[in-house]
Amino acid sequence: LQIIRPAYKSSAVRSDQYPQGNIPEIAFLGRSNVGKSSLINSLCQHRGLARVSGAPGKTQTINYFQVLLQEKREEEETRRQLYFVDLPGYGYARTGGRNRQLWSHFIGEYITSSPNLHLLFLLVDLRHPDLPIDREAYTWLADNEVPLQIIATKADKLKKNERVRNLAQIQKLFPTAFPPIAYSSLKQEGRNDVLHTIYEAVTD
Ligand code: GDP
Repeated sequence: LQIIRPAYKSSAVRSDQYPQGNIPEIAFLGRSNVGKSSLINSLCQHRGLARVSGAPGKTQTINYFQVLLQEKREEEETRRQLYFVDLPGYGYARTGGRNRQLWSHFIGEYITSSPNLHLLFLLVDLRHPDLPIDREAYTWLADNEVPLQIIATKADKLKKNERVRNLAQIQKLFPTAFPPIAYSSLKQEGRNDVLHTIYEAVTD
């Protein structure tokens, strides 16, 4: 499996700005700075596609990237068109009191109303398996029955034993149909697992 020909398609903050048609969508969501842009770039093997930033909380639109998922099996080659949907990072500069909210309303609107959403990757930093804001996001997604896969990011930053322990903790705190995938954008680790998960989500 391979992702080929990635390209920015469009941005949206309202449902009438979502792309027309029925191309399957795979969404990416996580705390600001969790490594979401790096993950998207690493899946697409394209450095500058999603913007990697040291200053979190910048992207405030839903960004669509068109990609082709290419499968080669012996002589046969099939290509499926998909959208990768980069959702704004949450948990940055949260306001307190009455205005306190998990994320902008348009993120929730996209997740609950997009007809083409096949799978949402929720990214959790493998070094920080139990942040309240991630658990809050998970609870919201689970309550809304969103098809979910957890990706544990920055796996290269942990020693073997911490890694095993934290992955087990994530699996326990964020139960989903399939276990969390440990990912390193730096080392391209976990890439095949993620591509297979995408394949399974769009072929049924
Ligand atoms: P985003 O805000 O969620 O899109 O996060 P970014 O992709 O911009 O990454 C935030 C920071 O973490 C950047 O400095 C990245 O270089 C770093 N980072 C992201 N993924 C990894 C990873 O797998 N390994 C390491 N070591 N650093 C990473």
